[in-house]
Amino acid sequence: MSSTTDTRLATRILFGLLIGAAAGIALNLAFAPAPGADADSTYRSCVWFADNVANPIGQVFLRLLFMVVVPLVFCSLVLGVAQLGGSNNLGRIGARAMTWFVCTTALAAALGLTLVNVFRPGDHMPDDKVAELKAQFMTDAAKRVEQGQTSTGFSVDTFVNMIPKNVVRAAATDSETLGVILFALLVGLAASRMPQARTRTFLDVLQTLYEICVTILGYAMKLAPFGVAGLIFSVALKLGMPVLAALGSYLAVAMSGLLLHLFVVLGALVAVVVGMSPLRFFSRCRGLMITAFSTSSSNATLPTSLKTATDEFGVPEPIAGFVLPLGATMNMNGTALFEGVAVLFLAQVAGVDLSLAQQIIVVALSVLTAIGAAGVPGGSLPLITIVLAQVGVEPGMLALILGVDRLVDMTRTVPNVLSDLVCSLWIAKREGATLRP
Ligand code: ASP
Repeated sequence: MSSTTDTRLATRILFGLLIGAAAGIALNLAFAPAPGADADSTYRSCVWFADNVANPIGQVFLRLLFMVVVPLVFCSLVLGVAQLGGSNNLGRIGARAMTWFVCTTALAAALGLTLVNVFRPGDHMPDDKVAELKAQFMTDAAKRVEQGQTSTGFSVDTFVNMIPKNVVRAAATDSETLGVILFALLVGLAASRMPQARTRTFLDVLQTLYEICVTILGYAMKLAPFGVAGLIFSVALKLGMPVLAALGSYLAVAMSGLLLHLFVVLGALVAVVVGMSPLRFFSRCRGLMITAFSTSSSNATLPTSLKTATDEFGVPEPIAGFVLPLGATMNMNGTALFEGVAVLFLAQVAGVDLSLAQQIIVVALSVLTAIGAAGVPGGSLPLITIVLAQVGVEPGMLALILGVDRLVDMTRTVPNVLSDLVCSLWIAKREGATLRP
């Protein structure tokens, strides 16, 4: 697809986003019932339209993206590793990627914690609001707590379980993408050690499959303006405005932290380590940012990230193919920032005073859980309950913020995805590649 076509598509997706959001918010403000009151027939018709027309169109778009994720992760990693060749190259690039992931994620979590300490949004939550929110979202919170308890927590098993016993089952489970990644890395490594004559056909097949997935992505993206409009419309229509207002101070801190990290921290990194104007960078990422925002999923955005890195910025395919799938699963700056903000906010509401040492533990756990979180909508919610429990805050307190989490989730997915992209640009530059000016 030419770059003009991409720009036109990004503009159409942006229109979809704006129209969907404006329509959803307008109908919500006009017809949504007050808390406790019954919905009138107009609002019920709007919800019917959202559930039976708008959201299904969004889900078709989302599913088309998810559909190509497993083959794309597998092909791009095997090809990336095989083409990067020698284990020296791979070791160097892998070490750089991991350093980037850990440092930028820790930076984001620390930024989140700093903001909550400065603005203390949890200090002034009235008790009746706390009780109301808890009652409203307790069932959902209990589900997340249970999911958190059944995940293994952090032990030796966490690392042992990264190696899948059955790679087909790992591919079929959202939370086991790391298993697929590990398998693909090993296949690529083994292929790079074999004589080229033996592996050429295999790698050609993978290259073709990769290109087929990218073509399918092109079909999905044609639907993007409508899919994005449908997804945003449904979210906006059902947004509990009273819940938003009750959590205004939490939202203000979380959202400004995420935007600060996205535009100031990542923007500065783009200028300093890539040597590119942040303005040009963000304008070329428009389509990518909107896809991340509307799908709320790093995994669903991966096909678009790969395409943006190679087509818009000229990152060599093996580097993009190696760094971006790893990043989509392991590098979540926005998620770590959100976790830091949410844990400290809930501790403030609960009246639990966290010492500096405990806050450092929160940063460390936020980094670890962000690495372990699945790149799907709400992927980090079960894991944040583990962090809450570790620092002595009742995990069920999560109920308080669930009502607004979709909005925060959409926003945090953008820096999650963009940090991966900046990492691939940085590595490409360090490897001597010429990026598109
Ligand atoms: N939705 C996020 C992502 O896919 C994960 C999360 O923070 O829940 O990147």
